[in-house]
Amino acid sequence: MYKKLFIPGPTEVGPEMLKVLATPQVGHRSGEFQELYARLIPKLKKLLKTSGHVYLATSSASGIMEGSIRNLVPERCLHLTCGAFSERWYEIAIANGKQADKLAVEWGKPNLPGALDEALARKKYDAVAVVHNETSTGVMNPLREIASVVKKYPGTLLLVDAVTSMAVVDIPVDEIGIDLIFAGTQKGFGLPSGTTVFAASERASERARSVPARGYYFDILDFEKYHQRNQTPTTPCIPILYGLDHRLDQIFGEEPERWFARRLEMATSCRKWAKKHFALLPEPGYESVSLTAIRNTRKISVADLNKKLGERSMTLSNGYGKLKEETFRIGHMGDLDLKDLDLLLNTIDEILGLK
Ligand SMILES: *Cc1c(COP(=O)(O)O)cnc(C)c1O
Repeated sequence: MYKKLFIPGPTEVGPEMLKVLATPQVGHRSGEFQELYARLIPKLKKLLKTSGHVYLATSSASGIMEGSIRNLVPERCLHLTCGAFSERWYEIAIANGKQADKLAVEWGKPNLPGALDEALARKKYDAVAVVHNETSTGVMNPLREIASVVKKYPGTLLLVDAVTSMAVVDIPVDEIGIDLIFAGTQKGFGLPSGTTVFAASERASERARSVPARGYYFDILDFEKYHQRNQTPTTPCIPILYGLDHRLDQIFGEEPERWFARRLEMATSCRKWAKKHFALLPEPGYESVSLTAIRNTRKISVADLNKKLGERSMTLSNGYGKLKEETFRIGHMGDLDLKDLDLLLNTIDEILGLK
C-alpha cells in the first residue's frame, strides 16, 4: 500500500517524477546517452556553483564514501564524527587500512571548528572528512567554518558527505573550498537510490594521480577519462539520470533560491511543532533543514504511531541506531511541500490527541 515518505531517505518521489523514471532505455554508449550526460553535468555544476569536476557514480552514497578514501587518502585522515553516518565513514577508512583518527562529539552536538584546528595543529592529515548533515541526529554542521580551518593546512583536503544537504541547502562548493563532495540521489534530490553525484576539485584530481591503488570501481581518474566522452566508466542507472535531469530543470525552473527556501519553510514549521509538543535533539542553532530529529519526551510508541499513520498512507521514521527508542525523525526532503507536512503534523496531533 502507498505511503507518503516522511523518512530521511529514501525520500518521496512524486507521480510526475515516476513517469520520467519510466523513460525507455538507451544504450549507455549511444549518442542519446551522451546528450543526456552532456546536459546533466553543466546543470549539476551550476547547482553546486563549481567549475571543478562533476561525476556520476552508479552506487548508493556509501560507494563514494569508500571511493573518496581510496583516491584521496594515501595514509592518514581525520574524521569529524557526530552520529552514525560520520562513524560509518571512519569505519570505512579503517576497513581500507588507513590511519584514521576520530574527532567525536556527543550525538546531537555539532562538530566545531575550534577542536578541528587543535587536532590539525597536532598532527598532519591527508584529508579531513565531515558529514555536512548528520542524518542520524538531525544536526547540520557549520561547513563554512570547518572549511576555513582546513584551508589553514595546505596539504589537507576537505571531503564532505552532503548526502542529506545537497539540493536541500545552497552549497557553493568552490567558494567554501571543498575538494570532494557527494550525495546519493535518494535523499535531497527526491529520486530512487542507485546513483551518487560527486564533485572533485583540481587539487583532488592531483592527489588521486599520486595515489597508486585507487581501486577500480571508484577510480576518479577513470571517471575523468569517460567524462571526456560524455560517458560513465560502467553502465549507469539510466532511469535515475533522466530523473535527475528533470529534477534539475524543476529546480532551475522555479529558481534554486525559492527551492531552498521551501525546504527551510518545512524545516521551520516542523521544528516549531516539535518544540511545542516534544523537544529537539540537535543543539540549538545546528538543526538540520532536511529532517527534524525529535526527542521522544512523551514516551509515545513510535511503532504504534507509524502504524496509525500507515493506515492514512504516511510514514515517518524512528531514531537511528542507539537513539532508536529515545528519538524519532521526520524527513522533509524530496517531493514534499508545506501542505504535505501540515497534513502529517495535523494527523499526528489527532492520533496522539495533542491539539
Ligand atoms: C543515507 C546516508 C548515507 C549512506 O547512503 P547510502 O546511499 O545508503 O549508501 C551516508 N551519509 C549520510 C549523511 C546519509 O544520510
